[in-house]
Amino acid sequence: MDTSMRRASVQMADIDAHTYRDWLASGRATVWVPVGALEQHGPHLPMGTDAILSRRVATAAAEATGGLVAQPLAYGYKSQQKSGGGNHLPGTISLDASTIIGLTRDLVVSLLRQGARHVVLVNGHYENYQFLYEGIDLALRELGLGPGAESSVLLLSYWDYVSAQTLEAVYPDGFPGWDIEHGGVLETSLMLHLEPHLVELGRAVDHPPARLPRFDRLPVLPSRTPASGCLSAPTGSDADKGRLLFEQVTADLADDVATELGLRL
Ligand code: ZN
Ligand code: MN
Repeated sequence: MDTSMRRASVQMADIDAHTYRDWLASGRATVWVPVGALEQHGPHLPMGTDAILSRRVATAAAEATGGLVAQPLAYGYKSQQKSGGGNHLPGTISLDASTIIGLTRDLVVSLLRQGARHVVLVNGHYENYQFLYEGIDLALRELGLGPGAESSVLLLSYWDYVSAQTLEAVYPDGFPGWDIEHGGVLETSLMLHLEPHLVELGRAVDHPPARLPRFDRLPVLPSRTPASGCLSAPTGSDADKGRLLFEQVTADLADDVATELGLRL
């Protein structure tokens, strides 16, 4: 069976299981799993921003590399004050670490056991990363897959693919850092490019980047989070920056993964 198969969509949820099985039988199947969060993103962006963006990035990369996209993991680990404003804010609906580790482990075991050759987790929520890593590690242990196995799992956060050149174009006045890019120029510009009907730029608040201590204090002092809920202002966001970010990130990401896994672009 042709690995490009007859399918109108790269979303697994949209295709039938018989078509999926034929694709798995090619022995080269790569399943992309978007991971996000349901989390406050200030007054101008929707709470689903992280899951929306990771799904759009994963979809573009899967289309470019002949992969399929699994249902997103749409909830994430607890928002932390220094990277997402904090878990105390209504509109931030979070999982305990043990839950996200378990979900990741179950998904990876299920996908690989049924014949996916590779799984690529595309993370869109800063706080998730290490718990996804742990879930993958436990899944491989359960499956008995060690160094030298033909199957593999890749884990990445999509912003790690933003190039230095793109960064300069998007942040002409200086880059504040990925940790406080919460509801800021990156996410707002990407949303203006991809889902403009979900952005209310007129409600965006301009304020200096949050000044946060080097330590984590628990419980948090809520006053340390700007009232907007954003850690840096979205001022300067536009759809052109979003297009630049999206096209550069998805092209480099697809190319990198295709090279790593021996997929044809
Ligand atoms: Zn976000
Ligand atoms: Mn987030």
